[in-house]
Amino acid sequence: MKQKVNIVWFKRDLRVHDHAPIFEASLSGLPVIPIYVVEPDYWAQPFASRRHWCFINDCLVELNDECIALGQALVIRVGEVTRVFAEILENFDIHTVFAHEETGNAWTFERDKSVIKWCRIHQVNLKEFPNNGVVRKLSNRDDWSKFRNMRMASPLVPTPKKLIPVEALPAGIVPEKDDTLFGSKVPGITQKGGRVAALETLNSFLVERGREYLYRLSAPGPSEKYCSRLSSHLTWGSLSVREVVHAVKHRRGSILDGEAKSWRRNLSAFNSRLSWRCHFNQKLEDQPSIEYQCMHPAFEGMREQQFNEIYFKAWSEGRTGYPFIDACMRNLVHDGWITFRMRAMLVSFASYHLWLDWRKTGYHLARVFTDYEPGIHYSQLQMQSGVTGINTLRIYNPIKQSQEHDPSGDYIKKWVPELSDVSETWIHEPWLMTKELQKKSNCVIGQDYPAPLVDHSSAIKEARAKIGVIRRLKGFKEQADKVYEKLGSRKRPTTKKKSTSNSSVQLRLLD
Ligand SMILES: Cc1cc2nc3c(=O)[nH]c(=O)nc-3n(C[C@H](O)[C@H](O)[C@H](O)COP(=O)(O)OP(=O)(O)OC[C@H]3O[C@@H](n4cnc5c(N)ncnc54)[C@H](O)[C@@H]3O)c2cc1C
Repeated sequence: MKQKVNIVWFKRDLRVHDHAPIFEASLSGLPVIPIYVVEPDYWAQPFASRRHWCFINDCLVELNDECIALGQALVIRVGEVTRVFAEILENFDIHTVFAHEETGNAWTFERDKSVIKWCRIHQVNLKEFPNNGVVRKLSNRDDWSKFRNMRMASPLVPTPKKLIPVEALPAGIVPEKDDTLFGSKVPGITQKGGRVAALETLNSFLVERGREYLYRLSAPGPSEKYCSRLSSHLTWGSLSVREVVHAVKHRRGSILDGEAKSWRRNLSAFNSRLSWRCHFNQKLEDQPSIEYQCMHPAFEGMREQQFNEIYFKAWSEGRTGYPFIDACMRNLVHDGWITFRMRAMLVSFASYHLWLDWRKTGYHLARVFTDYEPGIHYSQLQMQSGVTGINTLRIYNPIKQSQEHDPSGDYIKKWVPELSDVSETWIHEPWLMTKELQKKSNCVIGQDYPAPLVDHSSAIKEARAKIGVIRRLKGFKEQADKVYEKLGSRKRPTTKKKSTSNSSVQLRLLD
């Protein structure tokens, strides 16, 4: 007779702490197979990259140690999930598959549907648990934050005490970081993954680094240290959002009087962002099409036909001729992380100045971000590209950003060494130097460093005009209201402005 077992299927929740599926399975009285499936078809998607895998690989190595300590090693398999489950079914009687609900992208959504179908056909129970702040089958957006906050306030799920092991099931091997299955080599470094790094990062932020969080949040260099840097851990699940919310609450209780004011402000700002995280994931849960369709349908077709491959290549390689843009992109490509403002600026530049479609630029960014989280990613791409219809256009001026966030030019010089000898006066706009000065600064524009791809003022004037035409179309406002009803943040002022021909242009950016 086949041994009766339960499966715990890990996806983007690579931990055993605050993990309802593994806890519930551990209470079932049946042997448990904790499994992670490497799915080659997923890794062939345009958003997936080896950098993600490097982070996941660290997580899996530690997750395996934790599972072994509980009594049953993590089982690793490569292939389609339903095929892997079918192979297990040949030797075991699977009672229930325990898993978290995943708010991923269209590919993972289809895969989850095939798993549901497979379980139904083979009379295997599938028990899915809510993940972080996302509410599945939410009927009304107005109620969302109430549900989310209740979930965050509830106690953490206990860590299982032990897992009953299964008989005779080879554990399998975690593929190496450099396995070709995961695409081309990462050109830089990858943040360390895994539970140990996650807890260290959380702790150092709450005890020390978070002290200057708000003050340093936007500057590209210092933000590397003073932002929490928890995003990749939250994306791949080495920490749950609720664990972080609880840790913040605990930290609040231990703040000493002398430092209370600044710490409280910093922690509140951080907490808000954790809430935004859930809010953006909820958008994708409610409307999966935002991965590939503009939230406001009037913007479909606005940029696609004019995609300029040369501009795209220059932007993605950090060779646009705008020093601050190029420094940020090269920094991002190398490190796999950059702060929010700079992500927004890079997208703004691609979408408005270069008029590139957000879907193609988004794939490039997804691959280089270690923390690629579809819910946040596609919502933010759309917001920063002006295609939601419910947010104010925010076009970043790359020269002003450069002067404000890197006045000395040190950051630019670190990432764009071609400009090392250019003085502070010219570093933000080196093309304004005379030919003689360019020679003296060892940087001849067009030879050592590119001339700007486009002129800032005329490019954004043109972009605004094109978008304005669409925003004034008949029916635009009514459609924007529908987008807001389904996806908008409920922090919007309650007194709505009366509809006028271009009133939607005035909607405030509140997401
Ligand atoms: C175009 C664009 C794409 C983005 N893509 C991603 C992505 O794929 N994955 C991702 O995690 N973040 C994404 N962000 C949001 C944000 O830039 C990162 O979450 C943040 O920089 C991560 O660094 P941190 O963990 O130090 O953040 P902190 O500032 O310390 O914030 C703490 C946590 O709050 C959440 N958070 C912070 N800012 C935001 C935000 N604006 N919206 C939603 N959640 C937020 C993140 O989970 C983050 O880890 C994107 C932003 C833009 C403009």
